[in-house]
Amino acid sequence: MIQIENLEFAYGAAGFGLRIPQLSIAAGSTVAITGPSGSGKTTMLSLLSGIFRPASGRILVNGRDLGALGESERRRFRIRTVGFIFQNFELIDYLDVRENMLLPFLINRSLKLNAAVRRSAETLADSVGLSEKLNRPVTQLSRGEQQRVALCRALLPGPRLILADEPTAGLDAANAERVMEQLGEHAARIGATVVCVTHAISLLDRFNRVLEISTFLEPT
Ligand code: ADP
Ligand code: MG
Repeated sequence: MIQIENLEFAYGAAGFGLRIPQLSIAAGSTVAITGPSGSGKTTMLSLLSGIFRPASGRILVNGRDLGALGESERRRFRIRTVGFIFQNFELIDYLDVRENMLLPFLINRSLKLNAAVRRSAETLADSVGLSEKLNRPVTQLSRGEQQRVALCRALLPGPRLILADEPTAGLDAANAERVMEQLGEHAARIGATVVCVTHAISLLDRFNRVLEISTFLEPT
């Protein structure tokens, strides 16, 4: 699924830079990435999602070399292949739960919003205990509920690659457990690969692999 070779990236000439000599992640596997703040975890997810482009090296996702794709091709790749769960959720305050879940379909023409997608959204909401709250503004939800909306939004298009950036940060133990369980279950159902940055030691045994970032990434 993911094959990285001699990847290099930097934020401008003097900014933080990183190098990943080699990293492979098997299709359908679930991988947790741990590491201290500022070590490059979010930057790495941004590279895997095609948000940032490597300066050199290869980053193959599903057989496509992201570094060789232009801006619009990487955007298409992201929309079709990647579900990103952001650390701060990135929900839209003035939209309700349903609209937030459907957002990728509302802003990307290549995702077609039809009756089947609307039904899937309701099924997904039901599976995470949000079916009673579909018409509520997201500002009226608890943090744990907001996280589940972000999870549903990332999963709804059926992405082959799910990237999650500290998805349980700030959640109590029960909610953290619940989010991880749902993430794992849904990923397994659609055969998606999961790369999840997390500090939650108690949740690590849910993953096929746990990688400390310094074992594969060198700051430059
Ligand atoms: P982590 O997620 O592991 O905490 P990040 O990948 O967010 O680490 O950041 C790694 C380093 O890159 C930090 O030193 C941070 O200040 C820097 N950095 C992050 N984002 C940017 C950016 N957009 N522009 C410049 N530097 C950045
Ligand atoms: Mg981060």
